[in-house]
Amino acid sequence: MSSVADRYGVFGHPVGHSLSPFIHAMFARETAQDLSYRAFEVPPEEFATRVHTFFGEGGCGLNVTLPHKVAAVEVAVELTDRAAHAAAVNTLSMHDGGILGDNTDGIGLVHDLCDNQGLVVTNRRLLVLGAGGATRGVLAPLLQLEPELIVIANRTADRAAALAAAFSDLGATHGAGFAEVGDEPFDLIINATSASLSGEIPPIPTSAVGAQTVCYDLAYGRSAVAFVEWSRAAGCARALQGLGMLVEQAAESFRLWRGIRPDTSLVLAALKDRTGST
Ligand code: NAP
Repeated sequence: MSSVADRYGVFGHPVGHSLSPFIHAMFARETAQDLSYRAFEVPPEEFATRVHTFFGEGGCGLNVTLPHKVAAVEVAVELTDRAAHAAAVNTLSMHDGGILGDNTDGIGLVHDLCDNQGLVVTNRRLLVLGAGGATRGVLAPLLQLEPELIVIANRTADRAAALAAAFSDLGATHGAGFAEVGDEPFDLIINATSASLSGEIPPIPTSAVGAQTVCYDLAYGRSAVAFVEWSRAAGCARALQGLGMLVEQAAESFRLWRGIRPDTSLVLAALKDRTGST
């Protein structure tokens, strides 16, 4: 009698571009785990029902990507602290009979910054551009590293101010519009807007970039190079894309589901070739 592999997947809309099935298939091979992982195209109005059906039919775990990360908070009966603080969920699993919501985006970014790229965040000045779901997910894990300050700048400045206030219990935060980030260079600038995807640059002053500044775009691949090119032209020390964050957040989801953290280096190397990421 053949056994059925444990089922995992990602819900998104659109989801055809998702690299998660490739990543998790490589993780499963590397760790000798018998599982299947596939992408599911799920429109917003079907999200909650499809999640309950997936788990009701024995599914073991789901990743959740745009536009469902906020809706996933509502389907979970329990949230980890980091998901609750982010008010956004990217990983669902069954836990004591109920659906547990977690958010591995922030810890994925921290692994990429600190372990893969060898950067130091403690006592550094950070600028985070954008105040959407990704920013919500990364703020708490970044603040746990005790930077000197995180300035959050957004096109809609009110949203940046609201986020800065919501996370001020975890460290020094300040919310601003793009033009109001000051003239002093930052140590690390993280672009968590979706502007690069349409070839746009958040209009921050180039004085925010100094010779020691590392610029990191959460977006990745050949179609999202606008911020990386702008950063290099502004004279930054290094310009990076968020492929490593993608792979590291997936490794954290895999660890939650399977109790084993895969080595990410092989997947990262394979995806750099495939996506043309920096
Ligand atoms: P989101 O919730 O839709 O938020 C989008 C943010 O971008 C908002 O702050 C929005 O500003 C801003 N924005 C959009 N277009 C802009 C433009 N033309 N100029 C300036 N600002 C603009 O999206 P998200 O979930 O936070 O995702 C943001 C980015 O992070 C996406 O590129 C996503 O692919 C990437 N991401 C990567 C990873 C990874 O693993 N590497 C993980 C998560 C997300 P307003 O508030 O003014 O509308």
